[in-house]
Amino acid sequence: MAPTAADLKKQQQQQRMADVPDLIVDRDRDVRYVKGKFLGKGGFAHCYELRNMATAELVAGKIVSKTLLTKQYQRDKMAQEVSIHRNLRHENVVRLFSFFEDHKNVYITLELCARRSLMELHKRRKAVTDPEARYFTVQVCRAVEYLHEKRIIHRDLKLGNLFLNDEMMVKIGDFGLATTVDEGERKRTLCGTPNYIAPEVLEKRGHSFEVDIWAIGCILYTLLFGKPPFETESLKTLEHSYFQGFTPRRLPVSCLSMPPKFN
Ligand code: ADP
Repeated sequence: MAPTAADLKKQQQQQRMADVPDLIVDRDRDVRYVKGKFLGKGGFAHCYELRNMATAELVAGKIVSKTLLTKQYQRDKMAQEVSIHRNLRHENVVRLFSFFEDHKNVYITLELCARRSLMELHKRRKAVTDPEARYFTVQVCRAVEYLHEKRIIHRDLKLGNLFLNDEMMVKIGDFGLATTVDEGERKRTLCGTPNYIAPEVLEKRGHSFEVDIWAIGCILYTLLFGKPPFETESLKTLEHSYFQGFTPRRLPVSCLSMPPKFN
């Protein structure tokens, strides 16, 4: 039987995993890492725990096969992600330590967030308690305030990009859609599909820092209610179902002192 498209994709994926060597060498810095546990995979990257052979320190290694970076715009996008991320220093932002390559892959070493992300927590727990929701949201706000002060918009804040370390501290990661903005500038384009898309992005009206605030609202809602505020098959329909409920055309003056009767 001829292999299906899904079979071929799986084969390619396995090929890429096999292409990650057990010993990874950063020649420029003269650091050797031993590949450890598989942490997860995203659109492009495979992530592994890496142990620095000299110091025994553990980091997360984001590994992207060069076969996925054949087009110039793919390389530009990755370079943009690294150039934004590498200068960030905040306790609620995943630290990017280094960036290097060998003939097969590009490697990014990151602060290890061993407790995965708020995505996995949400899938297990659904709604969390108010104190927990406040605990997580306050840390996200601190990180976003720091980013905005540096004129950086993250543009894809979502539960899966809010990582957790062993101390259960929240760390914002994945700067794949991030951008810098000039004073008063409105961004016109966004290559990729953010999870919680602000209306101005959807309507291509020009967007800026507010898109991160929109996403924080959606994150807090999801934490508290156990499901996202908006769910739709198609991005064309972004109206909250709440407004599909009965809405009177007029209100009687009597409602100033008592609830009206709708019949
Ligand atoms: P991509 O940019 O290709 O979407 P991600 O940044 O989403 O890749 O990373 C892929 C997966 O690797 C994540 O879903 C997560 O499971 C894991 N991962 C990413 N960064 C870290 C980290 N700092 N610590 C631990 N695991 C991580």
